[in-house]
Amino acid sequence: MIVEVIVDVSAYPIDRPFDYIVPEHLEELVERGSRVHVPFGNRKVQGFITNIKQRTDLDMSKLKEVQSIIDVEPVVTEELLQLSKWLTKKTLCYEIDALQVMLPAALRASYKKNIKLINPVGLDDAFLDLFGKKDIVSYEAIEKADLLRPMKKYLTAGNVQLETVIKQQAKAKTIVKYKLVEDKEYIAEQLNKITKQARKQKELIEWLLLQEQSAFTMQELVESTNVSTATVKALLDKHVIQKGTKEVYREITSLEYNDKDQRFQLTEEQSNALTKITHSQDHAENTTFLLHGVTGSGKTEIYLHAIENAISKGKQAIMLVPEISLTPQMTRRFKLRFGDQVAVMHSGLSIGEKYDEWRKIWRGEVKVVVGARSAVFAPFKDLGVIILDEEHESTYKQEDTPRYHAREVAIWRSEFHQCPVILGSATPSLESFARASKDVYSLQTLRLRAKEQALPTVKVVDMRAELKNGNRSMFSVDLADAVKEKLEKKEQIVLFLNKRGFSSFVLCRDCGTVVECKQCDISLTYHRAGEQLKCHYCGHEEPVPTKCPECTSDHIRFFGTGTQKVEEEIAKLFPNARVLRMDVDTTRTKGSHERILKQFGDGEADILLGTQMIAKGLDFPNITLVGVLNADTTLHLADFRAAEKTFQLMTQVSGRAGRHDKEGVVYIQTYTPEHYAIELSKSQMYEPFYHSEMLVRKQYEYPPFYYLTLVQVTHENVLLAAEYAKLATDWLRGNLSSSTMVVGPTACAISKIQNRYRYQCLIKYKKEPLLIEKLQQLIKIYRTEWMKKGIILTVDLDPSTIL
Ligand code: ADP
Ligand code: ZN
Ligand code: ZN
Repeated sequence: MIVEVIVDVSAYPIDRPFDYIVPEHLEELVERGSRVHVPFGNRKVQGFITNIKQRTDLDMSKLKEVQSIIDVEPVVTEELLQLSKWLTKKTLCYEIDALQVMLPAALRASYKKNIKLINPVGLDDAFLDLFGKKDIVSYEAIEKADLLRPMKKYLTAGNVQLETVIKQQAKAKTIVKYKLVEDKEYIAEQLNKITKQARKQKELIEWLLLQEQSAFTMQELVESTNVSTATVKALLDKHVIQKGTKEVYREITSLEYNDKDQRFQLTEEQSNALTKITHSQDHAENTTFLLHGVTGSGKTEIYLHAIENAISKGKQAIMLVPEISLTPQMTRRFKLRFGDQVAVMHSGLSIGEKYDEWRKIWRGEVKVVVGARSAVFAPFKDLGVIILDEEHESTYKQEDTPRYHAREVAIWRSEFHQCPVILGSATPSLESFARASKDVYSLQTLRLRAKEQALPTVKVVDMRAELKNGNRSMFSVDLADAVKEKLEKKEQIVLFLNKRGFSSFVLCRDCGTVVECKQCDISLTYHRAGEQLKCHYCGHEEPVPTKCPECTSDHIRFFGTGTQKVEEEIAKLFPNARVLRMDVDTTRTKGSHERILKQFGDGEADILLGTQMIAKGLDFPNITLVGVLNADTTLHLADFRAAEKTFQLMTQVSGRAGRHDKEGVVYIQTYTPEHYAIELSKSQMYEPFYHSEMLVRKQYEYPPFYYLTLVQVTHENVLLAAEYAKLATDWLRGNLSSSTMVVGPTACAISKIQNRYRYQCLIKYKKEPLLIEKLQQLIKIYRTEWMKKGIILTVDLDPSTIL
C-alpha cells in the first residue's frame, strides 16, 4: 500500500505530494486526511495523507516507509481535502499551508494522546494488560506494544476513548488562594489557644468556618474581613490556614443573565426574505443571498430561523461574525435559542478550549458553530446553511498566507453541500452589492426596523466652525448640550472615538513635524501612561520629546485624542456622569469586555466611551444618544476603501441609538462635513452612497469595476527592495496581456515595517486569463532565486487594503 503525503515543509520544490510505502502493521490505520510522521531528507517531518493507492509509477525500491501515524482518526474531511486544493490555487499558497489553516491551533502545538478505557468487556488480554489497574494509558505505550490495530477497532466500537492533553504554549496564569486546613479538631484546639490580643485571628477563623466557598485570595480575605495580611500569615505559620495555587481561567465564573429567548411574529419583510431562504434550503440550491437590512431590521432573527430549519432537517450551520462583534450579547441569542447544540469559538478561549469545541463539531455533538473567520472551516459533514453577518467587514479576509476570504470559502462549501449562503449587512461591501445588482446574488431587502422604530436622527457638526467660535474642546456645543439633556433624563449615551489610522500623534506646531518610528515610517502613538510614544507596528517605545527634533521648538505636543483624554474631559464637563471606557487597555484581561458591556446593560453607567470595539452588536434599549467625536480619521486613510469604511462605520455606530421604544439621535463631528460619505450618512440610506461611490470607483478604475492584485516586495536594504520590485513589475508587464494595467513599482504607504523596506506593484484588470499561471511562474522565480537574497515577495489576489 502506498500513500501520497503532503509534508510540512514550506519550500518551493517540495510543494507536491510524495509517495511513501505503508508498513504492514499500519495498513489498517491509514486514512485520507490523517497525519503521519515520515522521513524526509535526513529529518523526520509531519505530513497529511491526501491519497491512498496500491501502485506507484516510481521505483518502489527508492521509496521510504511511513514511520508512524499521528491521528488514528482523520483530522481533515474529504470535503476539506478538496477545499485545500482549491485554496492552494486560489490564493497561491503552499498546499501544506492550506491544510494547516483548517486545523485548530491545538493540533499545531505539541500535545499528548491518552487512551481511556470505557468498557473492558470483550477486549484482548494483551490489550487490557497494558492498563493494569489504571484506566488510562498513553498512545505511545500502545504504539510500542504494536496494539494500534485492535485499539482502532475498540475506538470505533466505543470500548475506549481518545483523549488529548494540550501542553499550553502560553503557561496558564496561576493565583494563590488560602483556606482552612482539613483537620477541624486541630482548628478548634488552636482557636482555644488564641489570646485576647490576637482577636483578629479568631475572627478570621470563625469567618472562614462560616463561608460556603472554601478558598480565598489574600485580597478577598483582607477586604471582606478587615484583617491584615499579617493576621493571615500568622495563621499560616500555625498551620491553621494553608495556601495553594490555582489556574486562573478555571476560576472565571460566567456572568449571570436573567434574559430569556424571545420569539417574535416575523415582520412581512422578514418572512418574505426567510421564505426565499428556506425554499433554497428545501430544494438543496446553493443560492447566495445578500440580506441587506438597516440596523435593527431583524437580520439576526432571520439567521436564527434559517439555522433552525437546517437543524430540523438533520443538518448543521456555520454562523460567522467579525471577531469584534462576537459580543456576549450576540452569542447569547444563539445559546438561548439552541442551547447545547451551539459551539462558540472566540479569541477568549484557550487553545485547549477551542480544540474541545472543534472536537464537538467533528463528532457531530453540536449543530451550530458561532465564530470568527476561521470557523468557516468547521468540519461539519452536512451543512444546511452558512451565514456571514456584517459581510463587508475586512476581518473576513486573512492577511497572512493563505490569504483567503471567508466569503469565497463559504460559497465554495455551499456548492459542495448544496445549501444557501446568507451575507448580511446594513452596509454591504460594494463588490457584494454590485453582484446582487447583477443577480449573481439574490438580494433580499429589509427597509424597516423590526419594531417599526424610526431610524435615529443624524446631525453633522462642522468642527471648523466650532474652532472659529473659540471652542477648542473635543465636544461641540451641540453635542455637549445633548449629553447634558440625556443625563438629566437618565438615558444612556455612547461616545465613539474613531481610532483607526494614526489618531494620536505628537506634532510640532511650529514646523509641522510629526514624530515617527525610525524603523517603520509610521507616526508613533502617544500613550499617556509614562508619557511614552509607541510604534504599533514593531513595538518600539521612546519618551515624548521636549524639543522638536527638527527645529528645536518646544511647541511640540500631543495632537489628536485618546480615550483617556476624552475620559478626563468628560469628567470636567459632566462631573456627575458615570463613565465606562472600553478600549484595548481596559479589555486586556479575559472576560473584561463582557463585564463592561454587562455593567452598561445593567444601567451601572451613563456613558459608554469606546473605540471601534463598541461600533457593533450593542443592543440596549436605553441608548438614545450616540456621539461620534471624530469622523475623519478613517476618511484620511491611504486606501481606496476609505470612504466606504467611513460610511459603514458611521452607519454602524448610529445604529446603536434608539433601537427599542425610545427615539435616538446621533451627532457626527467632522472637519469635512461636505464629503459625500459623511453627508450621506445623515440619511443612512445605503443606495445613494453606493451610487456615488461607484462613480468614483469607475473613474479611478478600482473594484468592483476592476480586479486588483497586490504584489509586495520587501528587503532590509532599500536598494535591493526597489530593484527586485522593479524586476517583478517589469516581468509582469512583459508577460501579462496588454489590456491589464501593471502599476508601479511604488513605495508602500507604510514604506518600512520592522526594518524592512516595502515596495509594491498593483495589477488592475477586468479579465486576465493568464493571471494565475503567470503569478505562479513569478513565484517560482522568487522561490528558486530571489529568496536566497533575502527578498520576501507576497501576492494577494484580493487585497483588503493597499497600505
Ligand atoms: P439586526 O441584526 O438587523 O441589527 P436584530 O435581529 O438584532 O436586527 O433585531 C433588532 C431588534 O428587534 C432586536 O432587539 C430583536 O430582538 C428585535 N426583533 C427582531 N425581529 C423582531 C420581530 N419580528 N418583532 C419584534 N421584534 C423583533
Ligand atoms: Zn518643529
Ligand atoms: Zn516601528
